[in-house]
Amino acid sequence: MANSERDYYTVLGVPKTASQDEIKKAYRRLARQYHPDLHTGPRKAEMEKKFKELNSAHEALSDPETRKKYDRYGHRWQEAEAYEKARAQADAGRGAGAGGTSQEGFDFGEVFENLFGQRARGGQAGRAFAVQGEDLETDVRLTLHEVLTGVTRRITLSEPVPCATCGGAGRQRGGRPCSACLGTGGQTETKTIEVRIPAGVQDGTRVRVGGKGQAGQHGGKPGDLYLRVHVESDTVFRRQGSDIHVTLPIWPWEAALGAEVLVPTMTDPVRVKVPPGSKAEGKLRLKAKGLPTASGGHGDLFVTLQIVMPPALSEEDRKLYEQLGRHPHPDPRAELLRRAQQR
Ligand SMILES: [Zn+2]
Repeated sequence: MANSERDYYTVLGVPKTASQDEIKKAYRRLARQYHPDLHTGPRKAEMEKKFKELNSAHEALSDPETRKKYDRYGHRWQEAEAYEKARAQADAGRGAGAGGTSQEGFDFGEVFENLFGQRARGGQAGRAFAVQGEDLETDVRLTLHEVLTGVTRRITLSEPVPCATCGGAGRQRGGRPCSACLGTGGQTETKTIEVRIPAGVQDGTRVRVGGKGQAGQHGGKPGDLYLRVHVESDTVFRRQGSDIHVTLPIWPWEAALGAEVLVPTMTDPVRVKVPPGSKAEGKLRLKAKGLPTASGGHGDLFVTLQIVMPPALSEEDRKLYEQLGRHPHPDPRAELLRRAQQR
């Protein structure tokens, strides 16, 4: 038979000897944990599947009569039920002595054995199954400067646990709904952990923190914690992989004659030579002044030159520009006008 179908006792994380009450409690606890409304993203589909499986397990095991059938026949207990009815009718037919011959030699026991294999002959011995804890996922926002250095974050996680007052039953003695959990049988427990987020992490990365998910049951391993990293945009620096880009305003004469200027970096400003004859939008590259890379190095810092005009020209500035204007220069619009004529 298909291995993909898990044993219903395993699904519920209870031993085969569990009482009906233990089955009920396990179901309520896991239903809160798996409920598809509590999950987002790729986990949601997985949880929907688990939730469905859990409900099938509950359907079979919550009723002592169907549970007996499940214990005997396994996942196909409903089909087995139909066979049982057929056999009962056949027996009744023989008992009445009416047309019984056609049924003779038909061994229902053999049918069951073929259909349900080992399962029909008794199943496994009762024991508690180890159930691994669920993975948890949470969002973390980082500034670009935190990406540069890496950061330790305190993260508060809330996980559903059985209600401490009623032990998860949802009811008080006497049958009234539990006032602590309002009858849901659950409550939320918060825990705070410290997590180190490595330097150089990319926006959108999922960082795995092993063993920090929900606790396992019956000796099962705890789940993992996944951090979805969101890197906030910066007002000065623009990130491209492990490289950083910054726009640097310079005066026209600094571009023309060259200059030594201060350039901001992710740490302290550095002195940089703007070469004479620099063009607008020209780029300078400062090696290893970017973000840490996975291989242990650093990306680069790219400086884009932006030639700016003085906000207000003094009388002296004006005279100097006039002097510059009297010198012959090629028309800076010649290329633009020529291309505009090409159709
Ligand atoms: Zn309660």
